[in-house]
Amino acid sequence: MAARLERFEFSQIRMGVDTPIVVYAPSEARAVEACRAAYTRISQLEQQMSDYRADSELNMLCKEAVGRWRRVSRELFYVLWRAHRLAQQTDGAFDPTVGVLVRLWREARRTGRLPDAQTLQAARARAGYPLMELCPRRRAVRLKAAGMQLDLGGIAKGYACDNALRVLRRYGITRALIQMGGDIVAGEPPPDAPAWRIALAEGGETTLARGALSTSGSTEQFVEIDGIRYAHIVDPRTGLGLTKLVLARARARDGITADSLATAAAVMGAAGIPRLQRLYKGVQIEVWEG
Ligand code: ADP
Ligand code: MG
Repeated sequence: MAARLERFEFSQIRMGVDTPIVVYAPSEARAVEACRAAYTRISQLEQQMSDYRADSELNMLCKEAVGRWRRVSRELFYVLWRAHRLAQQTDGAFDPTVGVLVRLWREARRTGRLPDAQTLQAARARAGYPLMELCPRRRAVRLKAAGMQLDLGGIAKGYACDNALRVLRRYGITRALIQMGGDIVAGEPPPDAPAWRIALAEGGETTLARGALSTSGSTEQFVEIDGIRYAHIVDPRTGLGLTKLVLARARARDGITADSLATAAAVMGAAGIPRLQRLYKGVQIEVWEG
């Protein structure tokens, strides 16, 4: 007879956000051991993909890959490759090279002022996915401009949740839910339920099992300047934060897809849904625009 499973919940901060993990496990010791390994895995990915940490693999790459090929870890290459492909597919609505523009946004949030035209123009010259080249055979990356900043903030959390779920499975835990901010990945549902119940930011709830759900938009993180709100998602067409009111939600089989498509959909708006759903079969996307 299978052991009775109990519910355990943990919470830590990873990649700058609350990262709760809920599992059903046969014992507390097993739950603790498995979740510790899952959090460790997320920390490793953070060290690879964070743009906040000066010594992350991503930030070293930005310095070392200008004009020359640099080999990177399997994980970083995969996420950069997925991000670059989505950038091509969306004509740059989603773009992992917007880092310099994201930094200008962070500065604007700090100072309450927009960058001047010259600063913005100089930053825009250092952003744009065609400036990033990938060589899958050598697992290498090359950047075409100095001072570029890669940014995986719109895709790495979903990928980290996928990895955490895989680690839990290795410990025999299949009934698990992992959340990193607006990105959620679920394994099998709780023993007594058909699915996990997920509270939604705007109120109400939904359900999720064996899949991922990501929310992205302009309503949570923004800076208001002269009566205009600029969100932390950059509109690559202006170089500034999104000024429209938008909430995008994507359901997919895995977190990396849901996370990146939610961010892409926030930029593209409802008009982008058919294209994204054609490109990514089985993905469901909803967009609310104010
Ligand atoms: P959150 O970080 O709040 O979960 P998202 O998944 O939508 O929300 O990711 C937003 C982050 O993505 C930004 O903080 C930034 O790091 C990065 N980003 C901003 N604009 C873009 C863009 N146009 N394409 C890809 N990534 C972006
Ligand atoms: Mg995202």
